Amino acid sequence: MSTTIAEALLSGRRRLASIQIETAALDARLLLQEAIGVSHEVLVAEANTQLTEAQLAAFDVLIARRMKHEPVSKILGRKEFYGREFKVSFDVLDPRPDTESVIELALRCVSRERPVRILDLGSGSGAIICTLLAELPLATGVAVDVSSAALDQTAQNAKLLGVADRLDGVASAWFERVTGQFDLVVSNPPYIPRGDISGLAPDVRDFDPHLALDGGADGLACYRSIAQEVSGYLMAGGIVAVEIGAGQFPDVRSLFKDCGLIYTDQCVDLAGRVRAVAFKAGFP
Ligand code: GLN
Repeated sequence: MSTTIAEALLSGRRRLASIQIETAALDARLLLQEAIGVSHEVLVAEANTQLTEAQLAAFDVLIARRMKHEPVSKILGRKEFYGREFKVSFDVLDPRPDTESVIELALRCVSRERPVRILDLGSGSGAIICTLLAELPLATGVAVDVSSAALDQTAQNAKLLGVADRLDGVASAWFERVTGQFDLVVSNPPYIPRGDISGLAPDVRDFDPHLALDGGADGLACYRSIAQEVSGYLMAGGIVAVEIGAGQFPDVRSLFKDCGLIYTDQCVDLAGRVRAVAFKAGFP
């Protein structure tokens, strides 16, 4: 029996909706485009075109992966962040729209006209550091990740975005192997309390690396590591801007304050929650 593009879309959407995937229609469309290698425009224009057996089989394979809650970005191997496309893999946390608030905050904190030095702790896909380097043409950066596979992903995306010549990578647990001082230190560290990980949505729990999620018993372990050492890596007037989880603002602010840092600014996410916070070094 033959199947048209429109029929395949409908069937894919229904299968995804049956397991409560809220973005069923969008996901089915993106997966069908991937399976048959066409743009959204072509898909719409050719809605009544028959699919070949092979195209239909390829689509079914992708839908079957999504039915196991694998995120579309992981299936496609790419994800858009701050208007640019990033390669993603199972070694890195998917770039999320929430993290765009770190970019907004960071861009408010530094000058476009100066050759600022930026350090990204736990760079993962490279979404934060590569975006900042792309937005700040005079800036240079250092990407740090404890996972060499993640660091490789950062490097690949730096190349894709054309910023590789301004970025160095260091395999390091936080500051362990980092040298030098920076105008801006950024991080989206793991911040999920360990006990909450098993209750996360399967799209996250089963497909994002736990190394990038696990923030220790209370979710704040990485902020402690960063706050304790960051002052030694900030130039005079330097800023540290971190992403935080929902409700973590008071704890993170007092934890940085205890290490002598002064709260300066914040940015909210799409849901209006404080998602990115900036601090500067206090007087020694
Ligand atoms: N924002 C991610 C989530 O809620 C967590 C990312 C992180 O721990 N840095 O799934």
